[in-house]
Amino acid sequence: MGTATETLPFQAETRQLLDIVIHSLYSNKEIFLRELVSNASDALDKLRLSALEQHALLDEDPLLEIELTPDSRARTLTVSDSGIGMTREELVQLIGTIAKSGTRELVEQLKAGSSGEAAATLIGQFGVGFYSAFMVAERVEVVTRKAGADTATRWESAGDGTYTVSEASRFRRGTDVILHLKPVDPESGLADYTSTQVLKALVKKHSDFVGYPIKLKEVKDGVPAWTTLNSMKPIWTQAASEVGDEAYAEFYRHLSHDWQDPLDRLSLRAEGRLEYQALLFLPSKAPFDLFYRDQEYGLQLHVRRVLIMDRCRALLPPFLRFVKGVVDSADLPLNLSREMIQQDRQIGQMRTWLTRKVLDHLAAMLADRRETYLKFWSEFGPVLKEGLAQESEHADRLLKLLLFHSTREAPEPTSLAEYVARMPEGQASLYYVAGESRAVAERSPHLEAFRARGYEVLFFVDPIDEFVAQSVHEFEGRPLVSVARAGVEPGSESERKAAEDARRARETELRPFLAFLEQTLGDTIREARVSSRLTTSPACLVAGEHDLSPGLERLLRQASGKDDEGVTKRILEVNDGHALVAKLRALHAASPEDPSLADAAHLLLGTALLAEGAAPPDPAAFAAKLATLLTRAL
Ligand code: ADP
Repeated sequence: MGTATETLPFQAETRQLLDIVIHSLYSNKEIFLRELVSNASDALDKLRLSALEQHALLDEDPLLEIELTPDSRARTLTVSDSGIGMTREELVQLIGTIAKSGTRELVEQLKAGSSGEAAATLIGQFGVGFYSAFMVAERVEVVTRKAGADTATRWESAGDGTYTVSEASRFRRGTDVILHLKPVDPESGLADYTSTQVLKALVKKHSDFVGYPIKLKEVKDGVPAWTTLNSMKPIWTQAASEVGDEAYAEFYRHLSHDWQDPLDRLSLRAEGRLEYQALLFLPSKAPFDLFYRDQEYGLQLHVRRVLIMDRCRALLPPFLRFVKGVVDSADLPLNLSREMIQQDRQIGQMRTWLTRKVLDHLAAMLADRRETYLKFWSEFGPVLKEGLAQESEHADRLLKLLLFHSTREAPEPTSLAEYVARMPEGQASLYYVAGESRAVAERSPHLEAFRARGYEVLFFVDPIDEFVAQSVHEFEGRPLVSVARAGVEPGSESERKAAEDARRARETELRPFLAFLEQTLGDTIREARVSSRLTTSPACLVAGEHDLSPGLERLLRQASGKDDEGVTKRILEVNDGHALVAKLRALHAASPEDPSLADAAHLLLGTALLAEGAAPPDPAAFAAKLATLLTRAL
């Protein structure tokens, strides 16, 4: 530290990102202004929010505004704000590095070959607004003074791998971003960003609703004058017909730092004991950090149009963390602290109401705009499912929103209600098969009897589906059942009873052979029984009625880091109608001491495990036994 000028390298990922911003993003360069204005507006918000507790910050300098100063001779454009500012450390931390989760993944994806539009989409979704300055400037200077500090810092870079920081002076708190503009070049989308006309149009188009005045410096006959360019109208208080889709989209981009259009929006108004309005957006793409623990989320909370909290988590449950937007209350006190918000009863009621409204909106989307819903589902489906695994309060609404692929072989997933509507006569339960992937689930031997009956079975192949299955036991009064559980078979009650009686009779006959299997495979299986569910496979493993499913057990083991501990033994079901089982049984009856019997038993178990995508307990031994057997057979 000190007054000296330091030259520092950008962090590797930042450099790569910058390189892509500078060299690959061709279209829509004008968005740099929206991004810098958004940052300025955020900095002003932060100052205002800090001043709620430290009044001196605002009393010293009550001016809250954004200034645009073009200089056509020097070919610079300066975007200034009187916001929170940055310290030297913050400047290095916030601008020199990208400390976000998912940065490496983003750079990997970008390097994997997306250019132009696709890169812009990825970068925009990630939110690196400041760097967009390098699309239009060959050099960028930042001069910033943190609120409450005496000194300022200058940051400067040509976006070429390094930047410099040095001490500077600034008259008051806040930040100037000085763009040394590239030459005007309409062909590569570079307009004259020192032209007051161009700047006026850009602010109107992208930033009209910003809540602070955006003032443009115009010099007429040598006399400078400031013109406010934006209307500052809070967009959520206006009628939708007055606003228009494009302005809503701009507002969404401002709020979310996303560069794309939102997928959908909802305007809500609660009138009753509590009066509040909300303008909420669903993004069209899931953000990179959706599943990271440190993901920042929450709605902006305003009280009578004044922002009182930026990312208020208390207004929505975690399973709706992807929703962006604003809530504006008429009743809450202006001085509500973060701690109070967590416990406030009104906030709790608002959260319940908002959650219901969002879920109802999604249900309507599924009913009326399926294409849109499918897009939504492919991005955010797994997050919604968390809601079922975490809490039961909204389970009924959430269940209606679930989509699954199934044995129906349709390109589109099905809802539970649609599944029920297709259930043939006699089918009383909803069935699912769990697996690591659709390909594995599809080939599960557990499906055989259901296929034979023409019953549809849902694929639970998302890791979180195991938790969904664990917490959801029925849908509209009908049980939701895994096909891989002991005793689960298709058919009506009386059919199942008849099948069970027949099975038992066969089992008595096969008892000596089953006992042999239990003895030989006792390390891995709990019990061997005759199956009535298999038609083509010789054997499969099923979970006991009250056991955790193997998939869930695996997830829990991974989560606890104890990989091999406490695996619940399952039941081996054998298909006594299968030729292999018949032969083994005959061999066992004739010469119970035959050494190849044990090998065959291990192979039978191993293939049952392979069929569900799992590995035999000792893969090397399995392979050796198989090779020996094949050699003998060929
Ligand atoms: P994002 O705004 O999406 O987080 P940016 O790259 O645009 O990403 O900015 C990085 C960070 O730098 C911001 O989160 C903010 O903390 C800080 N920053 C940027 N511009 C300003 C500004 N004008 N005043 C204060 N801080 C700023």
